[in-house]
Amino acid sequence: MEHVNCLIIGGGPAGYTAAIYASRAALAPVLYEGNEPGGQLTTTTVVENYPGFPGGVDANQLMAGMREQAVKLGADVRRGTVTSADLGVRPFRLVVDGSAELEADALIIATGATAKYLGLPSESKFRGMGVSACATCDGFFYRRKDVAVVGGGDTACEEATYLAGLCRKVYMIVRRDVLRASEAMQEKVRNTPNIEILWNCNTQEVLGDASGVTGARLIRKNGEVFDINVDGFFLAIGHHPQSDLFSAWVNTDDQGYIITEGATSLTNVEGVFAAGDVQDPRYRQAINAAASGCRAALDAEKYLKK
Ligand code: NDP
Repeated sequence: MEHVNCLIIGGGPAGYTAAIYASRAALAPVLYEGNEPGGQLTTTTVVENYPGFPGGVDANQLMAGMREQAVKLGADVRRGTVTSADLGVRPFRLVVDGSAELEADALIIATGATAKYLGLPSESKFRGMGVSACATCDGFFYRRKDVAVVGGGDTACEEATYLAGLCRKVYMIVRRDVLRASEAMQEKVRNTPNIEILWNCNTQEVLGDASGVTGARLIRKNGEVFDINVDGFFLAIGHHPQSDLFSAWVNTDDQGYIITEGATSLTNVEGVFAAGDVQDPRYRQAINAAASGCRAALDAEKYLKK
């Protein structure tokens, strides 16, 4: 069985950054990228808020650069998905792609989170062409345009108020007649004049043409079907952290996010560290994920050299 000193799972900003730091600390890291190398960022186009790129940077190029940097510094970056894990033994035991077994002394979990989508074919068709699950990433492209945000939780309210500062009009598509969001966030939405809440509405179809999204067809609870004209269609109906594989050992919160100790990457299992969106229900930005990958590598180094 292959023995790995420091195993990193996840090919997003957290995983690659952990690999960069772990390589420089001579931890001989092995990183499995999973089936979406580059992570969530690759679902967007241009990243304009990653420091150091005044002209913006293509998301795929940014991730390819992080990957290349990790490889250059000596990380063993591999395609493959960890399909099972036993963190109750030492060294930890893991299986890749259902067959290749390996053991690891330290483990950095950087598996990320996936935004939930409605599951409509038209929504997939226009992903990256007006359909987005990240207002902070993509809102800028809809300046002075009309957009819609689906959801009624804190994220939806936060994204709607953020977008209201950039866009002409923001529709919130809410499936019930109440918002789930905290009172403070609801208040913010109520006090933002260019947000209109469409209560009791579900999306039947995202409308568009060759240039991207042009609108959405909605259905109200009473059966009324109507269209709205928007250029951007933002999903804010929650995220799903990719922690299922580890939750038998590693403590998670009620939504499945891995709980880390204070500002560290330490989990309740000694030698297991978590970084990036899998442990971050709040900020969910590439720069934060990268920073937490750095922390995880420094924590793993300290643990392995103990
Ligand atoms: P939530 O689960 O809180 O809210 C999801 C929202 O999406 C709900 O309004 C829900 O409707 C709606 N929804 C879910 N599925 C569908 C669907 N298929 N079609 C239409 N609407 C749907 O997720 P959030 O991401 O908003 O928040 C996650 C956690 O993070 C929460 O605990 C939140 O408080 C926290 N958070 C805190 C922030 C802050 O403090 N500033 C900012 C952002 C998040 P319904 O209500 O009918 O179920």
